[in-house]
Amino acid sequence: MAQVSVAGLGNMGKGMVRRLLAKGHGVTVWNRSPAAVGELVALGAERAGSVADLFAAGPVLSMLADDTAVTAVFEESVLTEAGPNAVHVSMSTISVAAGRAMAERHKAAGVGYLAVPVLGRPAVAEAGQLNLLAAGDSALVDLLEPVFSAVGRRTWRVGEQPWQANVVKITMNLLIIHALEAMAEGFTLAERHGVDAHDLHELITGTLLPGPVYQGYGKEMSDRAYLPAGFRTALGNKDLGLAEAAADSVGLELPAMPALRQMFQTAINLGMADHDWASIAEVLRKG
Ligand code: NAP
Repeated sequence: MAQVSVAGLGNMGKGMVRRLLAKGHGVTVWNRSPAAVGELVALGAERAGSVADLFAAGPVLSMLADDTAVTAVFEESVLTEAGPNAVHVSMSTISVAAGRAMAERHKAAGVGYLAVPVLGRPAVAEAGQLNLLAAGDSALVDLLEPVFSAVGRRTWRVGEQPWQANVVKITMNLLIIHALEAMAEGFTLAERHGVDAHDLHELITGTLLPGPVYQGYGKEMSDRAYLPAGFRTALGNKDLGLAEAAADSVGLELPAMPALRQMFQTAINLGMADHDWASIAEVLRKG
């Protein structure tokens, strides 16, 4: 089994490391704050003293919060000293602009670079069932497939330029957000006419719109139960901002964007930043 390194041991990173260890990979880990490192070392991971140590141990998968984190951890000096065969697979959900800048930074330092953001939750990562959205040099994707197949059910190749995976991930989240908004409007409209939300949910998912988004988030909306959050409203709002910026950068106006931004901002103002993002339904119900 391959030796692999992981930077970023938040909810997603931890799930991935547990899965890699369970599949027999040797895993070297690094995190900004130490508590998560100890937890995984106890399971058999090796502790890296620095990000440079990660590169020395094997290809580096990173699962960090956002643009700021990725840009800070993979700074130019770290990449320059990473060595001739160094490879970094950036799996965080980041902006297209940051994705482009990272690709250029790695190229300048001679470090192999792929963007492979993911669809799925921490539990899905731990079960090895993520969907991986891969872009960059296809020979490098081939080389890393044994590692990808340990954490994912499928690697979807979405382009030869790394940032194309970043825009595809942002697009997937925009589609979920539209589905949330559609259900929020549909549930509220029908409820105002006395229809039971659970009946409507069963009808929607049993006929026109089956699938995990309508099933899972529709259930949360009909139960009006949004805790614990699978994906927080605050993060959904961050990803809406990423979609808006990606559209702006190519002169594309997304007509529904102002309404969606207002829904998320109102949900946050109502105290639902840390609720699941399906809680935007309450904005209309309370309005
Ligand atoms: P998380 O639990 O909040 O973990 C964030 C990680 O980033 C932690 O390791 C944190 O280190 C690190 N970090 C944050 N700011 C940093 C900085 N300035 N410098 C260095 N490290 C920093 O987030 P997560 O749920 O694992 O998500 C990670 C990424 O996956 C995000 O881009 C998210 O959008 C994406 N994603 C999440 C899900 C999900 O369901 N959670 C699903 C798909 C994709 P510390 O421990 O030191 O704070």
